[in-house]
Amino acid sequence: MQTNLADFVRSRPEHKELDSILRSCVHCGFCNATCPTYQLLGDELDGPRGRIYLLKQMLEGADTGPVTQLHLDRCLSCHSCETTCPSGVKYGRLLDLGRVIVEEKVPRSLLDQTKRRFMLLVFPYRQRFNWLIQLARLTKPFLSVALREKIPNSQEVDVWPENNHLRKVLLLSGCVQPTLAPEIDVAAARVLDQLAISLIPVKSTGCCGALNYHLSEHENAKNLARKNIDACWPYIEQGAESIIMTASGCGVTLKEYAILLQYDPNYAAKAKQFSAMVKDISEILLEEDTTLFKVKNIKVAFQSPCTLQHGQQLAGVVESILQKIGYVLVDSDNSHLCCGSAGVYSLLQPQLSEQLRENKLRDLHIEQADCIATANIGCLTHLQAKASIRVIHWIELLDRNRLELH
Ligand code: SF4
Ligand code: SF4
Repeated sequence: MQTNLADFVRSRPEHKELDSILRSCVHCGFCNATCPTYQLLGDELDGPRGRIYLLKQMLEGADTGPVTQLHLDRCLSCHSCETTCPSGVKYGRLLDLGRVIVEEKVPRSLLDQTKRRFMLLVFPYRQRFNWLIQLARLTKPFLSVALREKIPNSQEVDVWPENNHLRKVLLLSGCVQPTLAPEIDVAAARVLDQLAISLIPVKSTGCCGALNYHLSEHENAKNLARKNIDACWPYIEQGAESIIMTASGCGVTLKEYAILLQYDPNYAAKAKQFSAMVKDISEILLEEDTTLFKVKNIKVAFQSPCTLQHGQQLAGVVESILQKIGYVLVDSDNSHLCCGSAGVYSLLQPQLSEQLRENKLRDLHIEQADCIATANIGCLTHLQAKASIRVIHWIELLDRNRLELH
């Protein structure tokens, strides 16, 4: 599509990207067919093609107001449209860069600003988030049903295996997962330990930056990325073979550090090297002999998070690992569609999020399964709040000597 961007879209190096992404869209509309919000709302402006038009108009200097903000806010950043697009349009990057400009142009209500500020002040910080959840658990009986269902029970945490193997993989634990489901990383360490790989939790790392990035606080996101790179660097120099996070939502962000820091002369090269080392844990297990994890007759409904299948383009990888070791996967419908979790989307857009969760639980056919498995902590807690069976991270299925499904 032809563009004629306004002068104000020339002040930052990222702005050049906006023009080339817009030009790559041929406006065919194929992407609408796989967009969850377009399917729910049926409005062209709630699909990727319409959102691209809204962004184009704004970038060409048209007045921008609450209508543009509303339709962009409703986008899940699920990247399903990118998987479908035949022209390779980088919609996610366009959206994230465009949202920063919308934030500058369109003021938010005080309530909306307060919610976002609170999330940014608490969620990316492990200790603060831990305090919030402890407080929420104590006051659970007095909270609304909607809030109560978001608070998971506390978990017993097993001992981390000794890190004495020659092969070493670095782990970033992130911000909310150590509080919500600390057992996932321990399960990952135990599984890798059985494959003679040590999983090293890197101290001084924290939030991957995704929340800040998707809420248009790009400078904060970059600072968190730099901090994580600095913390991992000594281990990288000592020969660590790769870097993982067990939450696919965070993993995709680590893989994007190369893009996030591309214009930073001090970090661009390091970020490129760092991102090239990031793997989802499924990419590691795919290369290993997993026969020692063999099981029989356990039926799993696997929910493939958008960040795994669209963000990291790893559709089918976890499924093939689970099937190879004997799990029976329950057939699901519309597996390309988001479950409605999408970071803090479930807090900012509760109605749409709820509708997507209902649809997902229906499409997973959980009545045929012993458990639901997923690859992302956000999807896990979101689905568990309404699921009638247990929801776990798929890596816990390989650590079955601890796992009780019923
Ligand atoms: S984003 Fe891709 S699929 Fe959607 S309208 Fe543009 S070219 Fe077509
Ligand atoms: S990212 Fe997801 S919700 Fe947003 S436009 Fe693309 S498909 Fe639709």
